[in-house]
Amino acid sequence: MSDSTGPIAAPVDAGNPLLAAWTTPFETPPFETIRPEHFVPAFERAFADHAAEIAAIVNDPTEPDFDNTVTALERSGKLLNKVAAVFYDLVSAHSSPELLKIDEEVSLRMARHWNPIMMNAVLFGRIAALRDKRQSLDLTPEQQRLLERTYTRFHRSGAGLDDAAKTRMAEINERLAQLGTSFSHHLLGDEQDWVMELGEDDTEGLPASFVAAAKAAAEERGMPGKAVITLSRSSVEPFLKMSSRRDLREKVYRAFIARGDNGNDNDNNAIIGEILSLREESAKLLGYPTFAAYRLEDSMAKTPEAVRGLLERVWKPARARALADRDALQELVAEEGGNFKLAPWDWRYYAEKLRQRRANFDDAAIKPYLTLDGMIAAAFDTATRLFGITFAERRDVPVWHPDVRVWEVKDQDGAHRGLFYGDYYARPSKRSGAWMTSLRDQQKLDGAVAPLIINVCNFAKGAGGEPSLLSPDDARTLFHEFGHGLHGMLSDVTYPSLSGTSVFTDFVELPSQLYEHWQEQPQVLRQFARHYQTGEPLPDDLLQRFLAARKFGQGFATVEFVSSALLDLEFHTQPAASIGEIRAFERKELDKIGMPEEIALRHRPTQFGHIFSGDHYASGYYSYMWSEVMDADAFGAFEEAGDIFAADVAKRLRDDIYASGGSRDPEEAYVAFRGRKPEPDALLRRRGLLDTPEAA
Ligand SMILES: [Zn+2]
Repeated sequence: MSDSTGPIAAPVDAGNPLLAAWTTPFETPPFETIRPEHFVPAFERAFADHAAEIAAIVNDPTEPDFDNTVTALERSGKLLNKVAAVFYDLVSAHSSPELLKIDEEVSLRMARHWNPIMMNAVLFGRIAALRDKRQSLDLTPEQQRLLERTYTRFHRSGAGLDDAAKTRMAEINERLAQLGTSFSHHLLGDEQDWVMELGEDDTEGLPASFVAAAKAAAEERGMPGKAVITLSRSSVEPFLKMSSRRDLREKVYRAFIARGDNGNDNDNNAIIGEILSLREESAKLLGYPTFAAYRLEDSMAKTPEAVRGLLERVWKPARARALADRDALQELVAEEGGNFKLAPWDWRYYAEKLRQRRANFDDAAIKPYLTLDGMIAAAFDTATRLFGITFAERRDVPVWHPDVRVWEVKDQDGAHRGLFYGDYYARPSKRSGAWMTSLRDQQKLDGAVAPLIINVCNFAKGAGGEPSLLSPDDARTLFHEFGHGLHGMLSDVTYPSLSGTSVFTDFVELPSQLYEHWQEQPQVLRQFARHYQTGEPLPDDLLQRFLAARKFGQGFATVEFVSSALLDLEFHTQPAASIGEIRAFERKELDKIGMPEEIALRHRPTQFGHIFSGDHYASGYYSYMWSEVMDADAFGAFEEAGDIFAADVAKRLRDDIYASGGSRDPEEAYVAFRGRKPEPDALLRRRGLLDTPEAA
């Protein structure tokens, strides 16, 4: 495994469970027999098989047709998908130093395997020829969509360019990869270089748990016995919220917003300029006027104008609410005898005081009612009531860790639909965060294939046999990931590349964010939120305060998000040569939208890793809000029906949203479900921003 370029020791297929037929229940991966050393030989075989399948399509002497080209591509790479699914599940959810080392090699091999396929001119020629005569091919709507998506994927990778342009594209991509890595290393560098020591008198307002974490942070940095604030968001934001030392809040705030912008070796300003011009150049090579036009063509929003329209619609009422909140915070300052104008480093501190006063709610009060098992039951029950599917635990299916649980999912008529794996507890072998993934996707190209869907979370396990208790955010996360899971479980498409969550970035959060709505319904909470000791249901008064507290502070949160999203859009629509000095550009754009001076961007340019560490969210930071417009509006269909489980609405939701994967245009699918395009008002209502003066 040390030599990543030459051939690796001859694959020993015999006894490699990744290369054998799986005789487990439902042909699931036999995790107890899979060892790290099985992966490299299995990948070797999978790459070779896939390359041979692609060569057969490329060298096929017969005229290209849908079956010998597009369908053949869909059939290719089965072994690669199978091995990769098991590998990435383990790397993320239950890794080891050995697996992580293999991962470094596999990611390099993966890139080298895919580049020549996606840039293959002959293969692209066959696909393009089919697309040219698509009207005469007599394709089903799903096949038409598949042809278009396949063509787009190759076209957008540069497969149609001449050799000189392909060479330049390759150079640009390599340089962009380097710049993205430097950007994140610089950011990390500035974050690691700065700490603020907390003296005895500096902990005013901070709870003991926060001080303990500050001590642990000092210890990690070789300063035992001291306590420090660092520049990670999880250290800065609670400090700004709780510390009553105004001078220290200012110091921390100023350091936080200066990351990557200090004129030192970690300065990111020059990198941003180079990234923007290279992105613009590659977009132009591909025939687009701007990078945003390139990026957004392959999204639901389609154009920069559509993104701007949404963001500006939300911006006005959010800004109005934030300005009203600012006045309330300024009054609070005066009430407490403060003789100063509210500054950005004061916002979180006074907002928290106001929240406690207005909502009279503390997360800790609700936790004893939110058991993990109760919330799993609530998520399952909601799916049963909406979609008729049922869940029965299976103990005979192999898993990658003893804490993983498996349920068989059945349709209303008792037919097997798939398996759902829940891996809920935090452990050192698991990366942070929560995610949905799959070991096998639904498809029916050559007979029905049932999906194997995974949810992974990082909840704290209950100590000493006590049940695991969730925070409100945890419970929401559980429903969120389960919503993604349903997108995989209810998928009903023919072709594998269109299955389940294979949809646009600005659509993929709809099934997940929509599902969160049921978690906060009184009807659901009254039934499933029960005290872990007494079994008492959640008291109504607590329930109401909990729901009210969720709307607090939305003006601030929306302003810091939308301003960042607008800036992302401006960076990628204005000509790179005209942007000039990054700091001046930022100032000019914020003045244009009337950014309240007491609020900072969620991500200033030199810290905006989403859009500059790589390009996944470049010109795409708006995506979360685009999906939120749809989820808020989609839930409105149930509210209008007067029943959060209304059968006819649920049937359309299943058919048009959860089952159709990438087989339909997402807007067409949404309109089929809702009868019209989404209205941003529902999002404003959910965020409590509809009754502000400028919201009309
Ligand atoms: Zn999500």
